[in-house]
Amino acid sequence: MNRQTDASRPDFMSMTVEELSAFVSSLGEKPYRASQLFSWMAKGAPLSGMTNLPAAFREKLAEAGEYRRPAIERKLVSAIDGTVKYLYRMTDGECVESVFMHYEHGTSLCVSSQAGCAMGCRFCASTLNGRARNLTASEILGQAAVTAYDTGERVDGIVLMGIGEPLDNYDNVVRFLRLVSDERGMGIGLRHISLSTCGLVPRIYDLAGEGLPVTLSVSLHASDDETRSALMPVNRRYPIAELLEACRAYFEKTGRRVSFEYTLIAGKNDSREDAARLANVLKKGMRAPCHVNLILLNEVKETGLATPQRARADAFMNELISRGVNATIRRRLGSDINASCGQLRLSRQKTEGEQGEELSP
Ligand code: SAH
Repeated sequence: MNRQTDASRPDFMSMTVEELSAFVSSLGEKPYRASQLFSWMAKGAPLSGMTNLPAAFREKLAEAGEYRRPAIERKLVSAIDGTVKYLYRMTDGECVESVFMHYEHGTSLCVSSQAGCAMGCRFCASTLNGRARNLTASEILGQAAVTAYDTGERVDGIVLMGIGEPLDNYDNVVRFLRLVSDERGMGIGLRHISLSTCGLVPRIYDLAGEGLPVTLSVSLHASDDETRSALMPVNRRYPIAELLEACRAYFEKTGRRVSFEYTLIAGKNDSREDAARLANVLKKGMRAPCHVNLILLNEVKETGLATPQRARADAFMNELISRGVNATIRRRLGSDINASCGQLRLSRQKTEGEQGEELSP
């Protein structure tokens, strides 16, 4: 494998324009070069394509720092709906996935925040081999920038719903949010960004205080602690009542409606009673507007879990709605390219025999 990352060299795509100004000055360049460089990086351009920067400056950059622009290792395009799935290779050879989707109101990119995941959710492909490492802000931003570069399209919105737990890589993710929303770069509005978490409660409070009005999406997947702990080990640390309290605080602080993801798994959490209990728990715990996104389990062979019949999902949704809870079933894009995250990285790892760390509860 290609291992060329040198963490001791400045990672200039993770820098804000102000930090970049100081960096280019240290290389003997005029500070205005920083904005030019920032804007090129946000377009996903290779150094060789940054045509208004002098060649000598580009050489200095390559020597003095690391341009962590991800490379396209694989690209799959759905024949059904044009969804594009990328397997991006980082400069040290780690691979993560991003999925580019087209909706009526614009495009949306699902990005990864870690190489692998330590959270251990039973149904998820991304966590099967644990967490290899956090992605840097540049590596998260790079997925968006290179996708825009490769497709020639604007990325209108971002969902942090790919591989990894964003709040387990808090500092880099917050830095990424500031970089990607900077008007001098990609300029993606924070209101068009969703961050999905399995529920690291203290970090939800931290995020609420950052002044970044992103939509918080919380993976709930169960309406009682016993079921949730069996599906998601994180629930043993932060049970449902504490999690909902944090969600409520997030709403009060940011004014942003929280949304909940609920993956339906046959025989585990998909009965009418589950739906009724979920409605109750949300009403009591949130006491604020929220939305439930129902997801049909994407079956991962290794987990032995199965997806319910569509009729059962419809009944679940109707039960929620009849109890006054906003709910929809998520449309599945890119089904012919298995666009749900985690499985491409996993299949590549199998051929390479990589391993990562696991969560110590
Ligand atoms: N770590 C974040 C982002 C994970 S991926 C989180 O936990 O929210 C985004 C969503 O997909 C999460 O709700 C996750 O629980 C769900 N998910 C993971 N594997 C899945 C699968 N095999 N089928 C359906 N949804 C899945």
